Amino acid sequence: MRDATAPLVKAAGLDPRNAEILVINDPSINAFVAGGQIVWVHSGLIASADNINQIQGVVAHELGHIEGGHVIRSAEGIKEATGIQLVSLLLGAAALAAGGGEAGMGIMAAGQQAAMGKFLAFSRAQESSADAAGARYLHNAGISGKGSLEFFKKLQNLEYRLYVPQDTYVRTHPLSGDRVAVLSNLYEHDPAWSKPTDPALEARFQRVKAKLVGFVSDPPRTLQSYPTSDQSIPAHYARAYAYHKSAYTEQALAEIDALLKADPHDPYFLELQGQVLLESGKPAAAIPPLREAVDKTGGQPLIATLLGHALVATDDPKYLDEAERVLRNAVSRDRENPFAWYALGNVYQRKGDTARAALATAERYSMEGQAALALRNAEVAMGGIDQKSPDYLRAQDIAMVSRASMERTKKK
Ligand SMILES: [Zn+2]
Repeated sequence: MRDATAPLVKAAGLDPRNAEILVINDPSINAFVAGGQIVWVHSGLIASADNINQIQGVVAHELGHIEGGHVIRSAEGIKEATGIQLVSLLLGAAALAAGGGEAGMGIMAAGQQAAMGKFLAFSRAQESSADAAGARYLHNAGISGKGSLEFFKKLQNLEYRLYVPQDTYVRTHPLSGDRVAVLSNLYEHDPAWSKPTDPALEARFQRVKAKLVGFVSDPPRTLQSYPTSDQSIPAHYARAYAYHKSAYTEQALAEIDALLKADPHDPYFLELQGQVLLESGKPAAAIPPLREAVDKTGGQPLIATLLGHALVATDDPKYLDEAERVLRNAVSRDRENPFAWYALGNVYQRKGDTARAALATAERYSMEGQAALALRNAEVAMGGIDQKSPDYLRAQDIAMVSRASMERTKKK
């Protein structure tokens, strides 16, 4: 998502390091902005897009809402909405990583519903200004507007054919004849109109889409979209998850073997192999593919967390040092992963370092907004860690932040 949208983000005058495109697990077709420099994209929108250019069209329009400041007046309600969502996403991701797929999805869905109630529907004037801005970004980025039109038309067709719930993109973005005419006119006269998408980017999108569909959809539906007759890389990818979710481990591993036959050292294929082995109770077998995947991605923190989890799950003390190193690396690059802190706390506990176990637990509670528990654990950590070490300072920070947050709550 970052690679596909960075030129648009730049064209919108935003810094790609600050702007984020975040995906949430919701099967309805939608995308929206809700304050800050964040474009939220539903998994359902990605699943229904035929190509990356369609996603680029949607994101360009949403960035137009950010430039227009169309969310600022309701900033209060929105902050609350995104807060719910972010926390539930983190919790959901942690539950998923812990192997509780269904539970994780449940947590995410509940949080999203809570956040969805605070949706914004924009006025017609705001829509046309976002359209104009989006067209400008596409022009400046040299990206064709074809996908944008295709996607809007596709949604319009869906709306005619199917029951469409109130909170979807077609409802918040009614596609009038005027709008199509204005957009077509802008896009078709742009030099980028017939410029094809970079094939490498498109291929990556098809993989991401298949992986996402396999991960979030009901397995029978995945197998319908990616039938066994389809021997493409995305199809193997999607089916591997569908089988894994249905606990058909052998079939899942066979699909992964097909992927690895195409590219034996692709880190994401290896990650998938490691995940399926780990989650089907074979942590030792999961270690070699996960090690290579971590290595090949330069220590990608989510994959590293999976490796750390596999190392701990073997219950073999010989892996504890490696688990500590791997997980410390993971949290230094992505501090906002409660499950990585949970696994790291486990490692320290097993090594008998209760102070650092408490620090890891304090990090996790602090992230989950549980100030009292974060404070208590930070204090335990401070009692056992050398005052000159950076870990001590970190425990002190958490204690301070937690105390302040508890006082704010009290005042409220
Ligand atoms: Zn809009």
